[in-house]
Amino acid sequence: MGRTLAIIKPDAVRKNIFGYIISAIEEAGFRILAMKYIRISTEQAAEFYAVHKEQPFYKDLIEFMTKEKIIPMVLEKDNAIEDFRTLIGNKNPALAEEGTIRKKYGETVTYNSIHGSDSLENSEKEISFFFSKSEIMGNCTG
Ligand code: ATP
Ligand code: MG
Repeated sequence: MGRTLAIIKPDAVRKNIFGYIISAIEEAGFRILAMKYIRISTEQAAEFYAVHKEQPFYKDLIEFMTKEKIIPMVLEKDNAIEDFRTLIGNKNPALAEEGTIRKKYGETVTYNSIHGSDSLENSEKEISFFFSKSEIMGNCTG
């Protein structure tokens, strides 16, 4: 089984539609191993997106990710990382494939409703950024 880190972003929380996104995730065969509903600090968001710190969109991204609560989740499935990237679609909702979460709920490349880890290395880093081992364990799949 593989794992990935997903985050339902502030735009989806603000629109009061995160339940639909969680349903789509379950329908696609992912099991939610851990989940939080939290507002992160500027420092946390800056650290999470540190790889983008030289990008022109960095400041807006940090501001966006801290303006409302978010829902980080650890998801489990065969081929989790790749299958979840397929489920969410292109980071620009206008370019996202029909039936993807970003196509359905995203608005712009910043307000794109959801995040998914892009590699095994980053998924491990991102999972431990939000969750301790004991928070992930304890469900029926172990
Ligand atoms: P995510 O990491 O959120 O799944 P991604 O891997 O598809 O998205 P990245 O290139 O890693 O996209 O960028 C991380 C996030 O930064 C994007 O999801 C988006 O919110 C924001 N972002 C990326 N590129 C741009 C851009 N050109 N303009 C504005 N925001 C951007
Ligand atoms: Mg990314």
